[in-house]
Amino acid sequence: MVPIFVWWIGEGEVERDLVDHVRRHLARAFERPAVLWNGEERPRHAYDPRRKQHASGVILRWLLEAGPGGGKVLGVTDRDLFIPILTYVFGEAQLGGGAAVVSTARLGEDVERVGPRLLVERIAKEAVHEVGHAFGLVHCGTHGCVMARSPAVREVDEKTSELCGECRERLLELNGGA
Ligand SMILES: [Zn+2]
Ligand SMILES: [Zn+2]
Repeated sequence: MVPIFVWWIGEGEVERDLVDHVRRHLARAFERPAVLWNGEERPRHAYDPRRKQHASGVILRWLLEAGPGGGKVLGVTDRDLFIPILTYVFGEAQLGGGAAVVSTARLGEDVERVGPRLLVERIAKEAVHEVGHAFGLVHCGTHGCVMARSPAVREVDEKTSELCGECRERLLELNGGA
């Protein structure tokens, strides 16, 4: 069974609680081992000085080269991510591919008021969402499903961290026991 590797690729100190929470959510959602991967390298070449953000597409390609291989790899960062057509993204993945990335940079809204747990819950949802894409899942219209589109924090808060029944079935069809 293809494992999921979770790799902190941020510039700040690794947030162990956050990364471990993400790891546990992934293991549960995809019913397979999810393990932490520690590498010292960082995708600094993905930084665009004009936008002062990191290009998520560049990070995805880098994760495939620099990562452990033999599974899906999720990079978790504190750097702000973008794709050329959007102001920012919470994350990105290759549909049916080997890599996904998520960022805490834009998920901090209201965290000071509500508490740090909110950030942890949000990043876990976005992690399951992007890794879902890496397993071939597309966006889902079922209320509460983690594969719902979430362009803003409000939509992230409205969904759960779980795959709906249809997405679970689809996941099995796409990946079988692999
Ligand atoms: Zn998506
Ligand atoms: Zn769904």
